[in-house]
Amino acid sequence: MGEQVPDLSVVVPMYDEQEVLPIFFDRMRPLLDGLGVSYELLVVDDGSRDATASMLLAAATDWPQLRLVRLLRNSGHQAAISAGFRRARGNYVVTIDADLQDPPEVIAELLATARDRDVDVVYGVRSDRSSDSWAKRTTARMYYRLMCRLVGRDIPFDAADFRLVSRRVVDAVNALPEDGRVFRLVIPWLGFPSAEVRYVRAERAAGVTKYNLRKMLRLAFDSVTAFSAAPLRLATWLGLFGGLLSVAFVIGALAIKLTGQSIPGWTSTVLAVAVIGAIQLLCLGLLGEYVARLFQSSQKRPQFLVGYDSLDDSGHQALER
Ligand code: UDP
Ligand code: MG
Repeated sequence: MGEQVPDLSVVVPMYDEQEVLPIFFDRMRPLLDGLGVSYELLVVDDGSRDATASMLLAAATDWPQLRLVRLLRNSGHQAAISAGFRRARGNYVVTIDADLQDPPEVIAELLATARDRDVDVVYGVRSDRSSDSWAKRTTARMYYRLMCRLVGRDIPFDAADFRLVSRRVVDAVNALPEDGRVFRLVIPWLGFPSAEVRYVRAERAAGVTKYNLRKMLRLAFDSVTAFSAAPLRLATWLGLFGGLLSVAFVIGALAIKLTGQSIPGWTSTVLAVAVIGAIQLLCLGLLGEYVARLFQSSQKRPQFLVGYDSLDDSGHQALER
């Protein structure tokens, strides 16, 4: 391969996938070889502790297009995809899970759609989730609803991390300085022209899920905090609300005192608790406002991305879209 740029990079994050690896390669190789484009299969080993690493090395000896990147420690699915995006050289980059839940056969369709419709992003969208449990389907639906709200753009429902993006998108994503990217949100947020390809999500071919509850919650928290400072601002509203409440409380306590019905010492105690509580909440809210500002400026997101400039020759087709 050398320095030559492949047409397609297929990025696969892998964590402890020794059970599925042989099946994955058996299905992937004939498929990629038959695509009719030059490719690299870029496996990002996310710090696997099982035989995955040695199996990958063995497979690479007679598969020149198989490229291996190993992370020093388990950094998580999204971080592994980040590493893949940084390393991938292809004109198009497909991300796909190792467990064959996303059928590799669909890659051909993703590629054809990107070329025929001249779009930068092609989402793989699950047309059927019956292989997932009720709980997973329900939490997933709630997640996508909330995310559409927060990102302020249509997040393709039931699209996870099986998708194709163009070089332009890869470069735009890599240029974002923020950490903890959630690809399924950041990519729609960028706003490149996109299309969808529907597919049926299969059962995991072998092994068990590598997404435990902790990792799922991490993804949910990252998703919210990457796009919204609303939880921080909550303190301000609580502080204001608490402040009003304590004013009412103070008036009430004084009224009771004046009618002479209070137990000695009660009024001063209540006053102290209410006033100090309100001041603390308000200060916390104020702190939240400043932290929110810091957070937003630390993300350094671009104010805009240019889709077309008439001075720039390479983008002529863009106008016809
Ligand atoms: N994965 C990873 N690092 C992790 C967890 C998962 O690279 O810390 C990979 C995993 O090997 C698989 C993909 O991410 O290729 C999706 O994980 P999994 O199939 O276990 O998630 P699920 O489909 O159950 O949500
Ligand atoms: Mg899976």
